[in-house]
Parts: sequence; structure tokens; C-alpha cells
Amino acid sequence: MNIILLGPPGAGKGTQAKKISEYYSLPHISTGDILRENINNNTSLGLKAKSYMSRGELVPDELLITIIKDRLSKNDCYRGFLLDGYPRTIPQADALQMILTESGKKVDVVLNISVDDEELVKRLSGRRMCKCGASYHIIFNRPEKEDICNACKGKLYQRDDDKPEAIRNRLTVYKKQTQPLIDYYNKKKILRTIDGSKEISQIFEDIKNVLEEYGKL
Ligand code: ADP
Ligand code: ADP
Ligand code: ZN
Repeated sequence: MNIILLGPPGAGKGTQAKKISEYYSLPHISTGDILRENINNNTSLGLKAKSYMSRGELVPDELLITIIKDRLSKNDCYRGFLLDGYPRTIPQADALQMILTESGKKVDVVLNISVDDEELVKRLSGRRMCKCGASYHIIFNRPEKEDICNACKGKLYQRDDDKPEAIRNRLTVYKKQTQPLIDYYNKKKILRTIDGSKEISQIFEDIKNVLEEYGKL
């Protein structure tokens, strides 16, 4: 099963991706996590991506397409994958389709997590991240121990781009560059919209119900 998680920044893609990936044993491919890891390791890719990310802009398509092509060629993707944060533009979606077609694969379903702007701002401004990719919220999803990751015991931090100005920019960028993908995948009849304003566990139930319709995963 090849799944895309679509939705604005703060919709809960990463949160749900962790659950889906564990439950169905699918690799969770987050381009944001891959880019942040490259920044932490001072790679040339990280260096190129850094300034775009801190401003809340998209990193150029050609870099992302190389990343995703490379990642999807890894063995763990053979029985499916879960994309979180890719594609974010129409050219990225077209590139994905080409990459998959070359190996006789396709996207099975696009889960579009929908949340209104006011709630997104609350979620992003209270988000705390761990290096392992887990995300928490100071009110809505608190870690067991303050500022410590439940999963890996790492120290939580606030992302640079979760500060007010970058948040506003990311929401604008989403509307302009990523939102058109809703129509793109709707036309292909693989889009399913999920109400992302519910509780984390309820959203996961709704997602499982949709995925079960696709039969054995
Ligand atoms: P995304 O990957 O789409 O940017 P995250 O999964 O990182 O979103 O979630 C953004 C923030 O909102 C995090 O602080 C997370 O803990 C919190 N969050 C996620 N889902 C919900 C929810 N259903 N209700 C309230 N807060 C949520
Ligand atoms: P969010 O939790 O806000 O959805 P991500 O962790 O997915 O954020 O992405 C953080 C930043 O990384 C984006 O604002 C963008 O700069 C960059 N990025 C991640 N994925 C992509 C992509 N597919 N195309 C372009 N830039 C990306
Ligand atoms: Zn952690």
C-alpha cells in the first residue's frame, strides 16, 4: 500500500504517520525529517535547504525530487510506504508519478487531513519536536515528562520555523503551492479527506477505517 499524507503545516501528518507506520509496518518517509537531519549533519544538501526552511519557504523541487527518488529506491519500500510532507507542489507530484511508474507502482490513496487556520496556528506555536521525529504539544499532546521525548528520552525543542512569522509564511505557501494538489489527486479519484480537527486517537480510527476499505495492506 502506497500512501500520501497531505495537509497544511500543523494538520497532524507527522503525528498520524507515526501511528500508521507502526500499525501497518510501513516506512514513514518525512521529507521534513530528512532535511532537518541533513541540516544537523551539515551535509551539502542541508546547507542548501537551511535558509529556505527557516523562512518557511519550500526547498527547490529538484532537491526534493532527488531525495525522494533515492529514498523510494531503498529495499524497505518494497511492500509500501507512507509519504509525509511530499509532494508539496505539482511538479513534485508529477515526478513522483514518473518514479513510481518506472517501477510498476502507483499511489493507492492520498489522505488529505483538513484543519482550519486558527487551529493550525495554535498547534504549530505549541509544537515541541524530538530529533527522533516525534512531535508533542505543550497543551494538546504533552510528553509524560516535561520537555523529554516519551519514545527516545531525547530533549524536546521548538523548531525555528514554528515561530510566528515563519508560521504565517508557511500557511501562505501551503495555500499557493500545495493546496492545488487536493484537486490534482481528487481528479485521479484517490483523494480521501479526513477531519483533522478531532482528537488524535479518533483521527487515527477514521484513517484506519478508510485504509481497511483498500483491503489487505
Ligand atoms: P504536521 O506534521 O502536519 O505539521 P504534527 O503532527 O507535527 O503536524 O502536529 C502539529 C502539532 O499539533 C504538534 O504539536 C502535535 O502534537 C499537535 N497535534 C497533532 N494532532 C493533533 C490533534 N488532533 N489535536 C490537537 N493537537 C494535535
Ligand atoms: P510541517 O510540519 O510544517 O508540515 P515539514 O517538517 O514537513 O513541516 O517541513 C518543514 C520544511 O521543510 C518546509 O517548510 C519546507 O521548507 C521543507 N520541506 C519539507 N518537505 C518539502 C517538500 N516536499 N518540498 C519543499 N520543501 C519541503
Ligand atoms: Zn524522541
